Amino acid sequence: HTESKEKDDYHNIIKDSEKPIGESTKHEFQAETRMLLDIVARSLYSEKEVFIRELISNASDALEKFRYMSLSDTENTNIKDCDRSLEIHISTDKNNRTFTIQDTGIGMSKDELTQNLGIIAKSGSKAFLEEVKQKQAAGDNNIIGQFGVGFYSAFMVADKVEVFTKNSSDTEGWKWTSEGTGCYEIQPAEGVQYGTKIILHLKAESREFADEDTIKSIITKYSNFVGSPIYLNGKKA
Ligand code: ADP
Ligand code: MG
Repeated sequence: HTESKEKDDYHNIIKDSEKPIGESTKHEFQAETRMLLDIVARSLYSEKEVFIRELISNASDALEKFRYMSLSDTENTNIKDCDRSLEIHISTDKNNRTFTIQDTGIGMSKDELTQNLGIIAKSGSKAFLEEVKQKQAAGDNNIIGQFGVGFYSAFMVADKVEVFTKNSSDTEGWKWTSEGTGCYEIQPAEGVQYGTKIILHLKAESREFADEDTIKSIITKYSNFVGSPIYLNGKKA
């Protein structure tokens, strides 16, 4: 098989090529993150679709970072697979009740995974927690949409999130997984494409986000602000 063949396939569908290998390690979320996750997971906030805005915006950031890196590192000394297509792929699966988003962006190393998806660095999330503390009103969930809690908003609709990622200068891929409670696990994985794939195992009450038509109309709202093409179940969205 050739590389160009793989690239063609990738235009059309999200492949299930990842296989965890080796030992899985367990990590605790930072206390602030646990608090945030707890609020997010129990949220009664009705506009749960904002998680799509957050995940698309992260994918878009990752693609821009890769674009910048491949332009500035003109010798491409560190970058593997530098002429990949810069795209966002979303897929829905009603039978398995999943929502998947994959980008061909910068990806994350193991250290970046623990730093970025275990700790709250994002100013929006910090401001959100401050607001919650001030108002002492975890029940006032409208502020979730207002502040935008980034990646963690996935746990509004999912009871399990899997992330497969491979950084553009790495040869090794990683699987990050969490049920949004106290901890997350990290494990080396093979068959991971450069960039990041995030699989949301949807809660029963959020099954609508496994529906293609529903997702299509939501993507339309946010895709205007994205500099890379978005595909939904293989079709340009
Ligand atoms: P923010 O986007 O404001 O930094 P998020 O909670 O949305 O906050 O994301 C946290 C961090 O996780 C990001 O800054 C980025 O480093 C990392 N991240 C999230 N999604 C991706 C992705 N698709 N590709 C690469 N890195 C990502
Ligand atoms: Mg973000």
